[in-house]
Amino acid sequence: MRILVIEDEPKIAQAVKKGLELKGYAVDMVHDADSGYSYATDPDYDLIVLDRMLPGKMDGVELCTELRKNGVSTPIIMLTARGTIGDRVEGLNSGADDYLVKPFSFDELTARVRALLRRPPVTVGSTLKVDDLSLNPQTFEVKRDKTDIKLSKKEFSLLEYLMHHPGQVITKEMIANHIWDEEADILPNTIEVYIGYLRNKIDRPFPDKNPLIHTLRGFGYKLSSN
Ligand code: CA
Repeated sequence: MRILVIEDEPKIAQAVKKGLELKGYAVDMVHDADSGYSYATDPDYDLIVLDRMLPGKMDGVELCTELRKNGVSTPIIMLTARGTIGDRVEGLNSGADDYLVKPFSFDELTARVRALLRRPPVTVGSTLKVDDLSLNPQTFEVKRDKTDIKLSKKEFSLLEYLMHHPGQVITKEMIANHIWDEEADILPNTIEVYIGYLRNKIDRPFPDKNPLIHTLRGFGYKLSSN
């Protein structure tokens, strides 16, 4: 999952980026509303962390309003130093999905990031499920039937992304854009390599079960039971 952080205070921006990266997210950072707007219209972001007070033509509330007006539906968490009810209502009315008052604990931010990221797909509690494969974004537990599967952070992040789009064709470009940040050096075969790692953990050890990761030559990949 790839996250955009729009925050002008370098210390906070850097801390948020580092912290989210430690949780396995790919994170890009911009520091003003103008570049925030052009980045945020990129559909590759799965979530935006947006500071309310920003330099530039727009503040966070105006930026959020503008994005929603232009059809950008990416989930947005708004950060703010102000915490009055009026401010919160203004933020939410502008189209933000959630609101966090500074100073906030990092655990709270990640909990809210997770909550927003698990909104769209079919979930059982907080667990994503495709066939007999399950993934819990909170505990990082992955299971095929009842067997625990250990994944690296990148593998987990890739699988989580695939599980958010079951049965859909996912191109290498989509994977590159959602799992790696813009500064990452991705070699042409990097994604094949990671898909291979996942196969080795999710399909190969279960020869009696239907494979879940499918390659569609020339198109990309699909996660489904058939
Ligand atoms: Ca600010």
